[in-house]
Amino acid sequence: MRRYSAFAIAREALRNHLGWEKAWRDAQPKKHYDVIIVGAGGHGLASAYYLGKNFGITNVAIIEKGWLGGGNTGRNTTIIRSNYLQDPSAAIYEKARSLYETLSQDLNYNVMFSPRGLLMLAQTHHEARGYLRTVHANMLQGVATEYITPERVKELVPIINIDGPRYPILGALYQARGGTARHDAVAWGYARACSAMGMDIIQQTEVKGVRSEAGRVTGVDTTKGFIGCGKLGIVVAGHSGQVADMAGFRLPVEAVALQALVSEPIKPCMDVVVMANTVHGYMSQSDKGEMVIGGGTDGFNNFTQRGSFHHIEETLRALVETFPMISRLKMLRQWGGIVDMTGDRSPIISKTPLAGCFINCGWGTGGFKAIPGSGWAMAELMAKGEPGPLAAEFDMWRFKEGRFIDESVAAGVAH
Ligand SMILES: Cc1cc2nc3c(=O)[nH]c(=O)nc-3n(C[C@H](O)[C@H](O)[C@H](O)COP(=O)(O)OP(=O)(O)OC[C@H]3O[C@@H](n4cnc5c(N)ncnc54)[C@H](O)[C@@H]3O)c2cc1C
Repeated sequence: MRRYSAFAIAREALRNHLGWEKAWRDAQPKKHYDVIIVGAGGHGLASAYYLGKNFGITNVAIIEKGWLGGGNTGRNTTIIRSNYLQDPSAAIYEKARSLYETLSQDLNYNVMFSPRGLLMLAQTHHEARGYLRTVHANMLQGVATEYITPERVKELVPIINIDGPRYPILGALYQARGGTARHDAVAWGYARACSAMGMDIIQQTEVKGVRSEAGRVTGVDTTKGFIGCGKLGIVVAGHSGQVADMAGFRLPVEAVALQALVSEPIKPCMDVVVMANTVHGYMSQSDKGEMVIGGGTDGFNNFTQRGSFHHIEETLRALVETFPMISRLKMLRQWGGIVDMTGDRSPIISKTPLAGCFINCGWGTGGFKAIPGSGWAMAELMAKGEPGPLAAEFDMWRFKEGRFIDESVAAGVAH
């Protein structure tokens, strides 16, 4: 793989840009791999990347039924933060956030990480108390957050109305190194690095079945035939229940559509990310000038990756008191992604009842921020066969044994 650099851009400028290589090879399946990862979203690609980088395992195929990054990874609102409440969550989300700090250099691919600062608004006394508790927990966990006053909120977000009649701003949970990254670039950067290590990214190939012998996984049936493997990682977000079913076990996960929308591009007006969880809406401004707005989940289970009109109305009605200027904005487009929700709103990174088969899912409405940390933890689990410290608490049997990692409030989305 040729390195991207200022020198490479200058060289290609002189050659009419005819010398750029494809970022990754479009591979056809081999008969057998040491490891197969199902799902070329951010989590699947990151798992493969850290298998190669941290453990030298490169005889790996990543099998994707659509195009890489075409699932939730390419559909989210790109918010990155690590201000969770419980210790295991803070550890994995902070690991991910810290890996994001140097991910562009690590992958030699600009993922446009922008630690512009993130505010979670306290708009009720209940929320204010909850966020103070989170700040105290974060101090003990070594995660840098603070609770700030309404006046400081106004300084950071001049377009905000802090005196709303229903939901005045009482303060905010502020993470100065939270922010955003370009979601496609995260998938593309990992894909390019995996391909450069010799891994095969096999797109437009659906996994239809999982084969096993004597309780151990032997491979997968796909739309391109059988592909054998020593170990299998299932990393398919909203389709986890279906693929787990193929492997013969059930998951405590349900699939719902989560929606988002963007406005027409406008001049720069907000250089932080703001989440207003009481009214449910969150907003940041993209580099193109669009206001990127996150909405809620559908109230019923479904696999449609579409938006729906009532969500635009609900989300904007909620946000307009806090940001009166958006009442005049035209919305450009809306969409949905199928998120995988667990009962405690925390992920599953786990061995499964089928030997050699591992699962990474349950990131729900908040897994983009976790991609590097999740991949790191999943690679360790798959390489060693046992979870390391990051994944230890996130096994799937916690639901049977009542060891919940309750993040239903910190998840930041009304569920
Ligand atoms: C509207 C919206 C907004 C969001 N906002 C944020 C946010 O601001 N911050 C944040 O941290 N998170 C956010 N999220 C959540 C985040 O996007 C997801 O948690 C994360 O992207 C999940 O990544 P993944 O790699 O697990 O899944 P995906 O990117 O969905 O990848 C899974 C892949 O598996 C493939 N697949 C499925 N079944 C099969 C099969 N049988 N065979 C082969 N391939 C298969 C799919 O095609 C897909 O490409 C948001 C999600 C949505 C939908």
